[in-house]
Amino acid sequence: MLLNCLVHLIYIFICLRVTLTIVIEMDKIWMDEDRHNEKFINGVKGFIQFAFTHLAKANTVLCPCRKCVNCSWLEATDVQVHLIYDGFVTNYKRW
Ligand SMILES: [Zn+2]
Repeated sequence: MLLNCLVHLIYIFICLRVTLTIVIEMDKIWMDEDRHNEKFINGVKGFIQFAFTHLAKANTVLCPCRKCVNCSWLEATDVQVHLIYDGFVTNYKRW
């Protein structure tokens, strides 16, 4: 489990570096909204679209919710539910 998380963290680091070189800016103000607010929900949908375009492995991405903490590969619908119900892991603002 710990080794898996370490491998995933290394993968995230590599993906983030690649992503940053692509220079894609997204408006992230929605991340500070209430999780049941329409702006937050639409922001999550945009994030998922971005993640699955740039960071997907098979049909999954690492879920950045508070419970998974980037250690679980999940499909889009599961990531969306996790992010709306549990929120993003603290200080998750860069991708
Ligand atoms: Zn999750």
